[in-house]
Amino acid sequence: MEDGCEHLEASPIGKCAICGKTVCSECYRTIFGEMICDEHEPLEEESAWELVGLYADSGSLAEKRFQLEENGVVSIVIEGDEEAIELYVPAEEKDDGYAVLRSSGDESNFCAECKIQYSLEMEMCPICGKRSADSDAESNRIDE
Ligand SMILES: [Zn+2]
Ligand SMILES: [Zn+2]
Ligand SMILES: [Zn+2]
Repeated sequence: MEDGCEHLEASPIGKCAICGKTVCSECYRTIFGEMICDEHEPLEEESAWELVGLYADSGSLAEKRFQLEENGVVSIVIEGDEEAIELYVPAEEKDDGYAVLRSSGDESNFCAECKIQYSLEMEMCPICGKRSADSDAESNRIDE
C-alpha cells in the first residue's frame, strides 16, 4: 500500500476509503459519496459492490476490514444516514467476503440468505427481516 498518488503538483484532499492511499483533486473518484483512488476503476459503480455487513457501531470494523484484506478482499465502509454502518465488498468477492466474516469467530448474527453479517443488537436481518435463529447457515436445511 502506498502513501499517496503521484500527482506531486496537486494538493491532497483526502484518503481513499478502500486502500487508505492519499488522493488529490486530480485523481480522486467517488463511490457511495466516499473518496477512492484511481486504482479501483472497476469498482466505481455502486453495482460493483455488495453489502456484506451491517453494524450498530464501528467498533470492530477495522479488524474485519483487515481480515478481509488478508484474504484478498477489499472493502469499503459507509456510514449511512440510517443508524447502521454498512460494509461493502466487490460483488464478485461477496461469497469470499461473507466466508471470511463467518470464520472470524466474533459474536455476530449472520443471515445465510442475504449473506450478510450484522450486529447482535439487531434482532433480525435488516435486509430480509428474518430473525437470526431462522437463518443460521449452521442449521441450513434443504427442505424449506
Ligand atoms: Zn485506493
Ligand atoms: Zn493524485
Ligand atoms: Zn437476510
